[in-house]
Formats: sequence, structure tokens, C-alpha cells
Amino acid sequence: MMYRTTLLSAIALLAGATIANAQTGTDTIRDHRTTEIYEPVPPVVTPAAKFGEAPSDAVILFNGKNLDQWEKVSDGTPADWIVSNGILTVNKKSGNIQTKQSFINYQLHLEYRIPSNITGSDQARGNSGIFLASTGKGDAGYEIQILDNYNNKTYTNGQVGSVYKQSVPLANPCRKPGEWQTYDIAWVAPVFNADGTLKTPARVTAFLNGVLVQDNFILKGETRYIGLPYYKSHGPSPIKLQAHGDKSEPISFRNIWVRPSPY
Ligand code: MG
Repeated sequence: MMYRTTLLSAIALLAGATIANAQTGTDTIRDHRTTEIYEPVPPVVTPAAKFGEAPSDAVILFNGKNLDQWEKVSDGTPADWIVSNGILTVNKKSGNIQTKQSFINYQLHLEYRIPSNITGSDQARGNSGIFLASTGKGDAGYEIQILDNYNNKTYTNGQVGSVYKQSVPLANPCRKPGEWQTYDIAWVAPVFNADGTLKTPARVTAFLNGVLVQDNFILKGETRYIGLPYYKSHGPSPIKLQAHGDKSEPISFRNIWVRPSPY
């Protein structure tokens, strides 16, 4: 009992000292070991030989060969976008596709290419999107936009790099149509209470072509084309790709992988 009291007193003292440090800038910790952590040890992950390729612990969502990891959003049948020469291209007759597997928090890598002969303007020019959690049919979920904005004006919270109609991207690092572009995204899913109310909102950080476009943005809810975003309770969800149905040539994808977070 004595020991416990002493220990608690010591912890209280240490906590007090830490607060005092933060407040005064003085340093009362004398042993370097006090602030060193040894357990748990982070898992070893072998990085790819080339930046952007999948590290050893990634789940490969598109390997250039087949769509085994994907299904049609409309009816859950096998996805029928076009796979050719290691590239996945939107099938305009088909509609959105999503992963068969569901995820919570993750790191996602994806590459896309707007065709060099793209036509159209505003939102009808190379429009697709990644739904970071697909919460239902059609466009239900949280969309980070894909669009050709190399020389194409649209509302800024709907251009490439935006969390669609919620967050203007921090920059426009869009490459020319015909060039491959990369998205690297860290997604933290929303958490809901047992009664369906929101406990913590979703957050997203995204790099487009290596440039930070979303910096830990806190989402206001699911993407809505008309009206304000709001949350509806959901659990682990698929990742969905959008077939927007523009008149111009469809866009393509390659090298899609995800690293589910262990928390
Ligand atoms: Mg879109």
C-alpha cells in the first residue's frame, strides 16, 4: 500500500513536472531513458524497389491482370471494366465498381490517366473519383475527386484533389492529359456510437502527384451533390471507383494497393 501511494505520488509529481515544463520551458527530467520507448516494436515492412510500387504488407487491389478484387456496385456481380495491357479502364456501360473487401483506416495508392484526347469542360472532363468508404449504391460515400483540371476551370471544391464539395485542395498539381498521375491517401474512417450518432468524424490526408492537397481534413459527412454533407452510421466499407459517364473517352487506372491500418 505504501509502495502504491509512493508510486502514485511519483507519477503525480512527474505529471506535474511535465505540465510545469510545458508552461515554463524548464526541464526537470534528468535521465534520457525517461522519454525513450522500446515496446511495442513497429512491424518490419519491406519497401518496394521503386517509389509508388507496393510495399511488402500491401493488399494489391489491381495487379494489372484481373478484377478479382472488385465487384459492380449496382448488383455485386463481377466488375466488368476493361483490363488490357496492365491497365484498367472505365466501362461506361457498367457503372461504379468497388472492392470486395471492406476496410476501416488505411493508406491507399492509385494511379490514373486522363486520355490525351479528352474533350468536354468543367465537371464533364475526365471525371471519376475515389470513394474512400462506399456506403451504398451509386455515389454513396466520401469522394475524393478525379478530374482533368490541367486547363479546365470548375468550382474549386470540385476540382481534382478536392474532397468533393467539402474541401478545396491546397494546390493544383495536375499533370497534362495522357500522363499518369498518382494519388496517395491516408484515410481515417468515422466512428459511430451504438445509437448511430457520430463519435469521431472521418479525416483524410492526400498527396496528388506527390504534392499535399488535403492535410488532415475533417469531413463534415458523406459527399452530397445537392445539399450539405451529413453522417449516417456505417461499419467497414469497400473502396469505390466512379464511372461518371461523361461523353469523352473514359479514364484509366493502374497500380492500386492499400495498407489497412492496424488500429
Ligand atoms: Mg467525380
